Amino acid sequence: MENFRLEVDGDGIALVTFDVPGRSMNTITAGVMAELPELVGRLKTDAAIKGAVLTSGKDNGFCAGADLTELSGSLGAGSPREAFEALYGLNRSLRDLETCGKPVAIALEGLALGGGFEIALACHYRVAADDNRIQLGLPEGRVGLMPGGGGTQRVPRLVGVMAAGPLLLESKILRPKEALAQGLIHAVVAKGEAVATARAWVKDKGDAVQPWDKQGYKVPGGGPYHPQGAQMFIMGNAMLRKSTFGNYPAQTNMMKAVYEGLQLPMDAALRVESRYFVKTMQTPQARAMIRSLFVSMQELGKGAARPKAAPATDVKKVGVLGAGMMGAGIAYVQALAGIETVLLDVSQEAADKGRAHAEDLVKKQVGRGRMTPEKAQGVLALIKATTDYTALKGADLVIEAVFENREVKAEVTKKAEAQLGEDAVFGSNTSTLPITSLAQASVRPERFIGIHFFSPVDKMMLVEIIKGEKTGDEAVATAIDYVLKIKKTPIVVHDSRGFYTSRCFMTFLQEGVQMLVDGLPPALIDNVGRMTGMPRGPLEMSDDVALDLAYKIVDQTAKDLGDRYTPGPMDALLKTLVVERGRYGRKNGKGFYDYPETGPKRLWPGLKDIAPPSTHSSDPALVEELKTRLLYRQAVEAARCVEEGVVTDPRDADVGAILGWGFAPWTGGPLSLIDTVGAAAFVATCERLAAAYGPRFAPPKLLRDMAARGGRFYGEGARAAA
Ligand code: NAD
Repeated sequence: MENFRLEVDGDGIALVTFDVPGRSMNTITAGVMAELPELVGRLKTDAAIKGAVLTSGKDNGFCAGADLTELSGSLGAGSPREAFEALYGLNRSLRDLETCGKPVAIALEGLALGGGFEIALACHYRVAADDNRIQLGLPEGRVGLMPGGGGTQRVPRLVGVMAAGPLLLESKILRPKEALAQGLIHAVVAKGEAVATARAWVKDKGDAVQPWDKQGYKVPGGGPYHPQGAQMFIMGNAMLRKSTFGNYPAQTNMMKAVYEGLQLPMDAALRVESRYFVKTMQTPQARAMIRSLFVSMQELGKGAARPKAAPATDVKKVGVLGAGMMGAGIAYVQALAGIETVLLDVSQEAADKGRAHAEDLVKKQVGRGRMTPEKAQGVLALIKATTDYTALKGADLVIEAVFENREVKAEVTKKAEAQLGEDAVFGSNTSTLPITSLAQASVRPERFIGIHFFSPVDKMMLVEIIKGEKTGDEAVATAIDYVLKIKKTPIVVHDSRGFYTSRCFMTFLQEGVQMLVDGLPPALIDNVGRMTGMPRGPLEMSDDVALDLAYKIVDQTAKDLGDRYTPGPMDALLKTLVVERGRYGRKNGKGFYDYPETGPKRLWPGLKDIAPPSTHSSDPALVEELKTRLLYRQAVEAARCVEEGVVTDPRDADVGAILGWGFAPWTGGPLSLIDTVGAAAFVATCERLAAAYGPRFAPPKLLRDMAARGGRFYGEGARAAA
């Protein structure tokens, strides 16, 4: 065997070391699937083996699950029966393992996720090291898949239907102590002791029968035929519908697999799971989600957007100008990655306040056991809060996050550049001001670039890198190397009003406000918004972004475009809300909604006087139409960004949309949505929408051409000469 090493000790206990050659992390590859029957066969039939302990040959964990790159290559290939035969193999092997008649334990000194955790669940005894960084769980649902190695059957049989819900449907990841408390593992021991503990269990106690194979086994809390159990399915279905609106076949199929599987003996239950697994895998949602949320994200995380010829850089010292909400967050994430950080503001007090944000965040991490106090000290020691520009000397990169004001930005650019070496790069975190225009303040615009973070910086994984007209490849490479070093996902886009992410996201908000102007009830608009798979409705999201900001952007755009700007009814509505009524959004507790100090937000009753609804229908056809408007409006804008060269790679567009503004993840992103629908059908719908609602839906030439020749974004849309 290539992937497993087997050593039998004097007690007849086989130590099975899982170690996929040539990989830094174990995954379940086709090769592993092919060798599992041989491994299990050996354990079962070799009379010299009395029991086994599974462990990992890698120091970063046991196994991260299925090899999704390999799996995504086979998606859609073959008939459902062939897919079933190929995928049922894992279930068959793991069932053979748990019924081999000999006790099998697993020692987890690192993560076990997805298929890796399912291997663990098929062992009779599971012990993990006491380390809060160890992740255990079933994340398949996050990429549109469902567990296919027995997870949907063993988890509820161990912890009950209720507790299985978050683990399966929400892909909740547990730390060893949490997994122990839930009954998913049997013991947590000191680091480095897991193998010895597992071995001792096999030798001394070794019970080779799983709970569900014992006489009189009952599902904890009751299965589907138990009154209490049945109740949980009724509630569970309602909750699932409420949170997914039926957009995610994986979660629906997990629910079905649990419901049907729990009424059957394990062997039949595993076949049910495999059938739902195949069904899920063959949906367009799974294909699109795996591609964007796993394959593309991984490729971008390895620097797919990086200009190849530019030499590798290692950013060691970075200045952050402005220690406000964004600057403080940026300082924290880069210090966390070991970067020496100069955090500069106009007063020492403001700079210190920014540093205090990092102190709060590391304290929280230490409190949760995710960071050692020494590491926390080390992170803070890297952040120097100052007002002194000479402290920037020797910095490889400076990022400004001062007020969104052209003059202030120009001033700090000049002051910082005076301290920087020739190779240093200057980045702006502006959210709206075109990079090319800001670069005018720079003495070396080829090293001036947009590095656009999202709020809150420590949580949001995307960074949008913006090339100005004169930005050179080396600046792009440095920015990407920096973003990768701080473990975020970079996308590279070209200058445009709102760049890529804000430009497309704004269309979602605008379409929502337009619907209000059209006489649709606000509750319907926001409910439909959530039904599309967006995290919240357009009106509530407008409140979060701030209505005065939306108004300022409209106003600025009108000024900048002059005669070319056509004001719409939306401008008047925003003006009334902001200027006349002082409703700025969530930040002053007054927007489309009221935000009382206690209790949930409520729609502002005065809204009906400003924008009286002309219908109260919630006819399903109307709901469908509104859903289409909200999603297609964003997708058509993304396509325009491709046509204009703002984005040059579909991976940037799709990953940027999901990570940046929460674009309906089930679609795989706006360009994946167009590919799934098909360019011709998408264009036809856009033309109908344009005729009904206005030219904002008009499909760009790029899409009409694609429709005519049956083209797609993926397959032909590789990164154009960026
Ligand atoms: P903020 O008001 O919280 O912070 C700005 C900080 O800059 C303040 O601490 C201020 O004292 C400091 N500052 C002002 N003038 C300065 C100067 N001359 N020298 C040094 N420091 C100075 O603002 P923020 O929300 O952190 O936004 C900062 C930038 O990031 C803006 O360009 C904004 O558009 C952009 N941005 C904001 C968000 C967001 O969600 N807030 C997201 C992406 C980008």
